[in-house]
Amino acid sequence: MVNTSIKTTKSQEIFAAAQNLMPGGVSSPVRAFKSVGGQPIVFDRVKGAYIWDVDGNQYIDYVGTWGPAICGHAHPEVIGALHEALEKGTSFGAPSFLENVLAEMVIAAVPSIEMVRFVNSGTEACMAVLRLMRAFTNREKVIKFEGCYHGHADMFLVKAGSGVATLGLPDSPGVPKAATSSTLTAPYNDLEAVKALFAENRDQIAGVILEPIVGNAGFITPEAGFLEGLRELTHEHGALLVFDEVMTGFRIAYGGVQEKFGVTPDLTTLGKVIGGGLPVGAYGGRRDIMSMIAPAGPVYQAGTLSGNPLAMTAGIKTLELLQKPGTYDYLEQITKKLADGLLKVAHETGHAACGGNISAMFGLFFTSGPVHNYEDAKKCDTGKFGRFHRGMLERGVYLAPSQFEAGFTSLAHTDEDIDQTIAIAREVLSSL
Ligand code: PMP
Repeated sequence: MVNTSIKTTKSQEIFAAAQNLMPGGVSSPVRAFKSVGGQPIVFDRVKGAYIWDVDGNQYIDYVGTWGPAICGHAHPEVIGALHEALEKGTSFGAPSFLENVLAEMVIAAVPSIEMVRFVNSGTEACMAVLRLMRAFTNREKVIKFEGCYHGHADMFLVKAGSGVATLGLPDSPGVPKAATSSTLTAPYNDLEAVKALFAENRDQIAGVILEPIVGNAGFITPEAGFLEGLRELTHEHGALLVFDEVMTGFRIAYGGVQEKFGVTPDLTTLGKVIGGGLPVGAYGGRRDIMSMIAPAGPVYQAGTLSGNPLAMTAGIKTLELLQKPGTYDYLEQITKKLADGLLKVAHETGHAACGGNISAMFGLFFTSGPVHNYEDAKKCDTGKFGRFHRGMLERGVYLAPSQFEAGFTSLAHTDEDIDQTIAIAREVLSSL
């Protein structure tokens, strides 16, 4: 498939060259547009709700650099704070007051977090939390859910699907069987499956980790009682409950899904928004558990650039902006308008579709639905999504290049942006 209505000559040249330089031409796989087909766009700059490519085309952006840009790209206050911080240097590799400031903000915001450790990515946060879960409980097995993504560490790359799930077979070449043999999986929203795993593995399960609202299998919400049920089951079995809020933290609500749904896990991982667009991750939770992390305790985890002053500065400024009154009301209002609008035009133009939003996270599946888990999500028409994606892109709307990703809005998206997006979607969907 080629672009028909936008000129992408420079994107094509740069991406062609990139393919000889980097595997697939990218630094992270989804960016190569493999699952939607067609020419990836090479970006030049971002501002507010918009991105511009190297050919000068402008797009309304619903990827938001995969979540961090919740205040809008390159917010003047974030950029201003970064300029100031930059003058003092890029990295200290030693304690800085900025870490205290961001730590206090995170602890005040996220119900489960009494102490926090900063790292450089969501992957790192999830790797560390897993080691901590195992150390604290002195148990090795861990339950994750099919379709949930917790970064690319070996232990989390377990193929979704019940047969392989029991065997814990690795999802990628290069992952040793031993690394995933203690990773058990269950379908999302299936409490009975989790109960069965606990029954079969009595006193062996360190804990349960999940995306409390899923974004990595498309946008999937927890059914009533699911999060509460996991909280009860983990308590009952002396296991830990971990919410991976790398995507949802400070997006679904200031205090994340745990604030919104009133279920408090033992540990939480964060990333994306708390770095305001710079590389950051974090994990935190109960003080007794976090006190096991080195050098307070014996569980080793470290990082050369962890807590670096630029990332802390961007995070602090971003959270300050999010604290302003009305922020989350605005995000909910604008995102609901978008999600409802997309669904309505999909139905009116004769397509099977389902979807929705919570706060600034949304999704649209090309299936009549409902979508409760990854198996349901896989039934959607990914070919149609690819054509929809391309049509939107050609008309100036940048959606995540995969049916299995959630969409993100920001404080910079206006009513007009949403109206325009829905009008464009109507045009594209009418032509499919
Ligand atoms: N957990 C979740 C829920 C995520 O969405 C992601 C990234 N999309 C990660 C972990 C991994 O984060 P990173 O890409 O920063 O390593």
